[in-house]
Amino acid sequence: MGKKTIIVTGGAGFIGSNFVNAWVGKALGKVINLDKLTYAGNMENLAGISQHPDHVFVHADIADRTAVKALLDTHQPFAVVNFAAESHVDRSIHAPDAFIQTNVVGTFNLLEEVRAYWQALPVDAQSQFRFLHVSTDEVYGSLSASDPAFKESNTYQPNSPYSASKAASDHLVRAYHHTYGLPTLTTNCSNNYGPYHFPEKLIPLVIHNALSGKPLPIYGNGSNIRDWLYVEDHCSAIREVLARGIPGETYNIGGWNEKTNLEVVHTLCDILDQERPKAQGSYRDQMTFVKDRPGHDARYAIDATKIEQELGWKPEETFETGIRKTVRWYLEHAEWVARVTSGEYQHWLSKNYHER
Ligand code: NAD
Repeated sequence: MGKKTIIVTGGAGFIGSNFVNAWVGKALGKVINLDKLTYAGNMENLAGISQHPDHVFVHADIADRTAVKALLDTHQPFAVVNFAAESHVDRSIHAPDAFIQTNVVGTFNLLEEVRAYWQALPVDAQSQFRFLHVSTDEVYGSLSASDPAFKESNTYQPNSPYSASKAASDHLVRAYHHTYGLPTLTTNCSNNYGPYHFPEKLIPLVIHNALSGKPLPIYGNGSNIRDWLYVEDHCSAIREVLARGIPGETYNIGGWNEKTNLEVVHTLCDILDQERPKAQGSYRDQMTFVKDRPGHDARYAIDATKIEQELGWKPEETFETGIRKTVRWYLEHAEWVARVTSGEYQHWLSKNYHER
């Protein structure tokens, strides 16, 4: 087992690319980055490390057992970190099939190949191996205003096809530990924000629409509450869980930053008003309330006591510092946004895999 090689799935997406960029940047060893490059995968997120010898990109599907087996056998990783997923709730409402295929069948196929690889390792290498599954707080369902925040012991009550498919994958991971002894770790994180976030999600969408003079859509009356974490803090938590988490355990990750959607949009408008003032008026003038998402969960909130107390992890950013950093990143990376919104970022695939 190559002690320093890790396989990351979904490493061209939002969180995965932040994780891979940080891992390679810290000289922690080689990353084999397996990604199917769906609409959410963007090789431009990895432009800074595209020539780095510690980064190997592999265009493949986690559900493709032959491809996964070949990678495990060739690279002999000490860990697999699974970010690959269909991740957008609205898309799961309109077209759930891909969510079942990747999040449930894909995770199952990945687990099967990882199990076979792990079972063939020498005993001492078996105990060092880790399979870390990246999941969401949405599996716990919705909270009322007075409910305590989600703890790891909360029951699963997923409400959307997205969260149900993630819940199913979490249960499979749990079962592979319980049944086969595979050293698994599961992390359930709150809403992330930061660089390389696909502009279909609230924060990058609002920044992009504000700057383009378009309406800023807010579901319902904007009172839904989400708990926000800066993406680099999520990545540092995952590194911590990978290094020191107890196999079979799950860890909730969050920044104690509950905000209504309305508060988030107001904050973004106010920062933009300072950083990129309009000729007249405020970006708040572009806010528009739209018909609510069906089955929209009222509130998510993470109780991060376990990871803080057992692993000593703490986020570096507050919501106020992280959101300002994020707005500045989007202002400085207008070209990245333009290439995503025009669809040009997807040309990488046809240019590099034209023989297929
Ligand atoms: P994303 O949609 O930005 O990226 C997903 C990546 O997975 C893309 O690069 C895509 O090409 C790849 N992918 C999709 N299907 C694949 C398949 N079958 N095989 C290989 N690769 C495939 O998602 P994200 O926001 O970066 O989320 C990453 C993980 O973190 C997901 O598992 C998600 O459930 C979880 N999560 C996300 C958030 C959040 O706020 N974004 C919060 C908590 C947990």
